[in-house]
Amino acid sequence: MTEDERGAILWRLKNDPDLPEDAEFEVLAYTAMLWSGWECDDAAVLYRILPDGAPQLHVLAGIGVTQDRLLETLEERLAVYEKVAADTRAFITRAKGLPPPREWRWICTACKTEGKGDEPKVCPTCGADDAWYSYNTIADDRMSARERMRNLGRKLRGEPHA
Ligand SMILES: [Zn+2]
Repeated sequence: MTEDERGAILWRLKNDPDLPEDAEFEVLAYTAMLWSGWECDDAAVLYRILPDGAPQLHVLAGIGVTQDRLLETLEERLAVYEKVAADTRAFITRAKGLPPPREWRWICTACKTEGKGDEPKVCPTCGADDAWYSYNTIADDRMSARERMRNLGRKLRGEPHA
């Protein structure tokens, strides 16, 4: 635990509505709790209230994990972290040696000129310098930026793709 982490955890303990007001805490242990798609319960803390409090487990936020399930939950989290680490290593191994990232396709929103690569500062056709929009399409995509924009409009209107 870094000093910054300790300071942040102490601040959160002092401001936690489930803990005594005006208490002085000592952080005995801390670990981040990592989730996918879940923004709460980000830290498990072992603390004691100074000067002579007994060690207590606490979940910062405490939205989904109750203190009586904390250790069990941390064991479950550990299994997930180990799987994610293995998946990440496998992903990197699989992805190494692929060709370099593909270029983006751009379109001038003023005159609809399309190009490949980085967006130019000024449109080579109409000279607009504030009309650029880089579409989420790649240069070797079989669809042009204009077709993709048209399909996006159809999708937003609930119409089928062309
Ligand atoms: Zn243009």
